[in-house]
Amino acid sequence: GKILVSGANGFIAAWVVRALLEQGFSVRGTVRSADRCSHLRTTFAEYGDKFELLVVPDITQEGAFDEAVKGVDAIEHTASPFHLRADAKPEDFIVPAVQGTVGILKSALKHGDAIKRIVITGSCASVLQNEPKPTLFSEKDWNNQAPREVSEAEAAGTSDTLPTMTKYRASKTLAERAAWALYEENKGKIGWDLVVLNPPFVFGPTIHDTPTPETLNTSALQFYDMLTKPNPNPSVLLTGSCWVDVRDLGRAHVLALLKSEVAGQRIIVSEGPWVWQDWLDAAPPSDKYQKGNPGSGKNVVHHIMYDARRSVEVLGMKYRTTAETTKDTVADWEARGW
Ligand code: NDP
Repeated sequence: GKILVSGANGFIAAWVVRALLEQGFSVRGTVRSADRCSHLRTTFAEYGDKFELLVVPDITQEGAFDEAVKGVDAIEHTASPFHLRADAKPEDFIVPAVQGTVGILKSALKHGDAIKRIVITGSCASVLQNEPKPTLFSEKDWNNQAPREVSEAEAAGTSDTLPTMTKYRASKTLAERAAWALYEENKGKIGWDLVVLNPPFVFGPTIHDTPTPETLNTSALQFYDMLTKPNPNPSVLLTGSCWVDVRDLGRAHVLALLKSEVAGQRIIVSEGPWVWQDWLDAAPPSDKYQKGNPGSGKNVVHHIMYDARRSVEVLGMKYRTTAETTKDTVADWEARGW
């Protein structure tokens, strides 16, 4: 079958494309401008005409994906803004996240006659909330806090003061809510079902276009900066979240197509919790990498945790370890001469 992957030039999407091609699927990727194509074409040259690209200039336009969905058997929708530019307005995240998601689903409703499944790259951003005590979140949980904070700030005219992460989290929550609402509305009359994968922080080596460390995507850049730059505030090294290796997440996107049981489910795709010090401890001994206070991460009480049993028991996930991911990520940097 042929699978549509939106935002194919992204960190995660490039690994999704690779996992799909390795599994024998054909892939049609979308990118938003022609200059995003050449790196991908080189990366996947060995797959010949099993890999094609289409430029969708503006995912917020109605009908943007009408041509892209024609003739595909499934969709993996990954395109959505994830950056931490402080001057971004809430709508800079929310409009492309929501309209991109609703738009691709509507194009599928109209023109996706062969489509059996749509997988959306959601996020734990739409699961977690800031809680006063350590919390184990599951697929039953929804982040109502971030959308509420955004709408309150907008009503009060104070959205400039919102943390960028709140705007991003609101965008992911609203996009996922909109996807489920549209799916529920149309369920009886369509040939496809919906799956949402909710990863926490995604780390690992890159195969998308990252000529310099500065061009890394948000999560991989944070990882790079933490390992390679002295931290002015060492207590940051004892903060963290949960994570998944980008290659495992790529595999999860394939499994989400192969397993009929996951129809209609959101699935948290998470290896487990970390604090930055854990990654420093896993880095090879070298002057290039920060040492922090070795071992001090071991006794930290993790504030955010996820119950990822569904990903193992239903999706069939196996997860790489902190040691494996650190080793491969550092090897990737070294191979690039960073
Ligand atoms: P990248 O920034 O590497 O990829 C984002 C992709 O979305 C790119 O193809 C980008 O295109 C596209 N995109 C962003 N904004 C727009 C827009 N306004 N219009 C059209 N396309 C747009 O990030 P990731 O690979 O990390 O993110 C991919 C998905 O994974 C996102 O949905 C993100 O929310 C989700 N996610 C990521 C996590 C992480 O830790 N990395 C964690 C949880 C979820 P272009 O290159 O042209 O900007």
